[in-house]
Amino acid sequence: MGKLIVLLVVVFLIVWLARGGRPGRSAPPSPTPAKPAATPDTIVACAHCGLHLPQADALPGRGGVFCGEAHRAAFERAQPPQ
Ligand SMILES: [Zn+2]
Repeated sequence: MGKLIVLLVVVFLIVWLARGGRPGRSAPPSPTPAKPAATPDTIVACAHCGLHLPQADALPGRGGVFCGEAHRAAFERAQPPQ
C-alpha cells in the first residue's frame, strides 16, 4: 500500500514538472490569436498557402502569418474584417 502511494506521488510530480511546474489552472484560452514573442527558429505556416517558413521571415497579419506581402493581401481580401 505504501509503495503504491509513493508511485502515485512520483507520477504526479513527473506530470506536474512536465507541465511547467505551475500549480493550479492550465493555460487559459487567450483572446489574442498568437504570442508575439517567439524565437527566430520557430517555424510557422503561411495562412494563405501553407508554406512553412521561419517566424523571422513571416509577415504577421489578420488571421495569421504569411510568407509574403502578396499572400497577406490576398488572404485579407478573402476574409473581410468582422
Ligand atoms: Zn503564402
